[in-house]
Amino acid sequence: MSTTLFPTTVIGSLPRPAWVRELILDRKDGKISEEETDRLLDPTIESALRLQERAGLDEVTDGEWRRESYVKVFADRVRGFRADLNPSGGLPYPAVVEPIEYYRPLVVDEIHYIRGRTQRRIKATLPAPYIIGRRMWHPEHSKAAYPTCEQLMTDCVPILRQEIELLREAGADTVQLDEPWLSTMVDPDFREREGVSDVQYEMDRCVDLINQTLDGIEGIDTGMHLCHAHFDRAHGTAGPYDLIMPKLAKVRVGTISMEYATPVAGGLASLAQFPENVRLGLGCIDHCDRQVETAEDVIARVETAMRYVDKERITLHPDCGFSPSVQNPMDLDEAYLKLKAMCQAASLLREKYA
Ligand SMILES: [Zn+2]
Repeated sequence: MSTTLFPTTVIGSLPRPAWVRELILDRKDGKISEEETDRLLDPTIESALRLQERAGLDEVTDGEWRRESYVKVFADRVRGFRADLNPSGGLPYPAVVEPIEYYRPLVVDEIHYIRGRTQRRIKATLPAPYIIGRRMWHPEHSKAAYPTCEQLMTDCVPILRQEIELLREAGADTVQLDEPWLSTMVDPDFREREGVSDVQYEMDRCVDLINQTLDGIEGIDTGMHLCHAHFDRAHGTAGPYDLIMPKLAKVRVGTISMEYATPVAGGLASLAQFPENVRLGLGCIDHCDRQVETAEDVIARVETAMRYVDKERITLHPDCGFSPSVQNPMDLDEAYLKLKAMCQAASLLREKYA
């Protein structure tokens, strides 16, 4: 765990340059091999690292530039899925069609590559079991392999646990499980749309799967990221977090990262219910807003959060990954300037509150 006051990190993804986006899609279409894609991507990852270091981040990722999406990486690496069978929210998702099998690491190679190339702390990101089930189980295509979505979620747990052990060995300092569904469930329209009839049950299931995945994991910091999801600068859902706050106290994780810069999250007052035994990952940069925040804007957000959570428990990061999938068009220079403003704010806050 970083002992720096107001440590800075990213949620995961950075916007990919256009040619990198095309490369990923060409790999998906079989026009270029995985090996050749990796060879071409290697120097872009160096660039993503230098960008984050220049911005001033304490903890970095590889920008997720090798992935088509933050969640599909599971289906790309684990056996049992078929691509694009499952359109969901306007994007093509895979569907599980056979019992899943872990036959090669998911993102360990991403971490190996950057461990030798940066002195900063490294974060590894993985999709959480609940979102994998929700996104990649299809009532028709999946039922022969998994009669219920819950059975798929349960089978994801041992795979993710095995992966986390390998990530620690590869030198990751933090593992973060991405679980947008828990926060999107605060929106009644979303629950209606997705057929969530018993929201208490679903939230408990989601939390229980996170706990099963991280139970007994030591030697690596753990985190969980929640958000309202986004595409093309618009959030998928909206609403304050009051409904999920009591559930967060049950999550056994080091840091809970949440969006608080965007107005769709309903302001920071819900932090009054934030659990006392975990760190707050404070979303303090609004990735959907083209306006680049000033350091003063960020400081104001952090100081408001400090009314509810002690400063020693606050980590700064943007609300979400800037571009969780290659299909999400975002601006890389804008992301850099926003990260830089955030890191400048952290530096000023350290001077003020050290
Ligand atoms: Zn997110």
